[in-house]
Amino acid sequence: MAWVNIDRVFKTCTIHMEPCRYVSYYVKGEGKPQFKGIEELKRDGGWFSHNSIREAQDFCKQEWEPKGYNIKRGCSCLRGLVTLYP
Ligand SMILES: [Zn+2]
Repeated sequence: MAWVNIDRVFKTCTIHMEPCRYVSYYVKGEGKPQFKGIEELKRDGGWFSHNSIREAQDFCKQEWEPKGYNIKRGCSCLRGLVTLYP
């Protein structure tokens, strides 16, 4: 499973894989942000789950890039797994 962190403040989409420490901290742990939703959009954004990395990338490309969002490889959880398309 892949997660997309939509950040409305910085206008970024960041993709993380399920085992990532950011996912366990921010989505499932005590770092759960007050103004970000899980599977829903709140004031500062939200985290959305996808079945695959490709699906996550398509979500970013189709829904968010047209609104001026940058797709970021923010984290080492993707390294060695996939090459994000440019
Ligand atoms: Zn990550």
